[in-house]
Amino acid sequence: MKAILGKFPNSDKISERILIDDDKIIAIDNERTVPDGVKVFDFGDKLVCPPFTDSHTHFFQTGLYMGALDVSGIATKDELLSFIRKQALDNFRIDEVVWLWGFDPIDDMPNSIELESAAPNVPIFLRRVDGHSCSLSQSALKMLPQNICTPNGIYSSSLQEKVVDYFLRMVGEDELIRAANRVAKFSAKVGAMRIHALVPYIEWAKILMRIQNNLPIETEIFVETTDVESVASLGLRQIGGCILLDGSFGSHTATSTEPYTDSPENRGILYFTDEELISFFRAALDKNLAVAMHAIGDRAIEQYIRCAEKVANGGKLNRWRIEHAELINRNQIERAKKLGLTLSVQPAFEKYWGGPNKMYAKRLGNRWKMTNHFRDEIDAGILLLGGSDSYITPINPLAGIYSAMNHPNESQRLTQNEAISLFTDNPLKWNTNKYRIDISNLYKINDELKFIVLDRDFNKSIPKIFTEISGRNLF
Ligand SMILES: [Zn+2]
Ligand SMILES: [Zn+2]
Repeated sequence: MKAILGKFPNSDKISERILIDDDKIIAIDNERTVPDGVKVFDFGDKLVCPPFTDSHTHFFQTGLYMGALDVSGIATKDELLSFIRKQALDNFRIDEVVWLWGFDPIDDMPNSIELESAAPNVPIFLRRVDGHSCSLSQSALKMLPQNICTPNGIYSSSLQEKVVDYFLRMVGEDELIRAANRVAKFSAKVGAMRIHALVPYIEWAKILMRIQNNLPIETEIFVETTDVESVASLGLRQIGGCILLDGSFGSHTATSTEPYTDSPENRGILYFTDEELISFFRAALDKNLAVAMHAIGDRAIEQYIRCAEKVANGGKLNRWRIEHAELINRNQIERAKKLGLTLSVQPAFEKYWGGPNKMYAKRLGNRWKMTNHFRDEIDAGILLLGGSDSYITPINPLAGIYSAMNHPNESQRLTQNEAISLFTDNPLKWNTNKYRIDISNLYKINDELKFIVLDRDFNKSIPKIFTEISGRNLF
């Protein structure tokens, strides 16, 4: 038998001891004493967490962008163009195209002529940080079919989805496997040992299914398609991910009942009709697939709930998820609870864009106080999952936990244990569709017990992972 002593977050309390027999956790309690003959690992007052789950990542794209040129630190169009002039861009080609990502300008996206003059004859594919706008150089524009070309090479809304799709489909299998290994290695390092991997195509899902047993993390695959037949034939139990019901606040495409403060004519875009959505929902329900969809503004959230209510017919839609659900209102929270919906949220969005002085306040005015009401959601009894939406923000469960505890809207903050549960037991509850979970399963990755020891707790800033112990290495 073995014992680990430390501070274990465990539902609403902190336990101090874990007893292990035969690679199975047989007790988690508050004793500090250890029976004779038991091997002890004492971490004192350090917080010891189960492996974390990131419940929303764009898996392959994250890995692809890790091989691309990161321009997230650049604030203006002119700075970006002079940065591009100085780069050896050939080092950042994904197959033929040079990918730039993470651009978050305070002014505008560059157009195709500006990009071409900064880097003549180089096909450049530049994405805005929120993934909802992109720009192409003239050389990249030439690669596109005529029907998705625009004169200035700047894209947003549904046409940009087509352009992104075109470039993603060009990526070959070897490049994808390299990307998968990059992101898995990175995730394990930051403690995210389970990943809900959103993939845009059935072919990519098949590649991930083939290689997932060789990765140092566990993956749960979501295919972002409405093709229920193909997804069901892969044996998956869910479908969707960031299938867009609306866009993002940054790109003025998330859709709300009220107009944008900095664009008063604009209330965003709904990408589906109710008829289309209901028929997708019915088909998925028929195949026992839970549907996850991207809805940020209250109008898009309303559409998901409204159509889900029609399909559920008074019953529950367990494991069905709204991704982001940032502007969900009280009435919608109650109806989501009644339907048994899960909300998949990204607390770090508040760290990057929330509060009175950042992008949400610019777009929404005083309604920055209405975003990401985690406290209300948990108090209503809704199951909340935490994610990064990586590549939008980096895979970093510790930053997510810290952000949920330090929400700029103080009334919506979570306790440390609640915030940790978003990245640990809640995803397991979602997956097993059970309120009570097996504690050994919570700590097991690829059949090995794993413990993540933090260098301190979350009181002041984001802690670091002190050590990640695998059962075998330790015992
Ligand atoms: Zn999304
Ligand atoms: Zn996403």
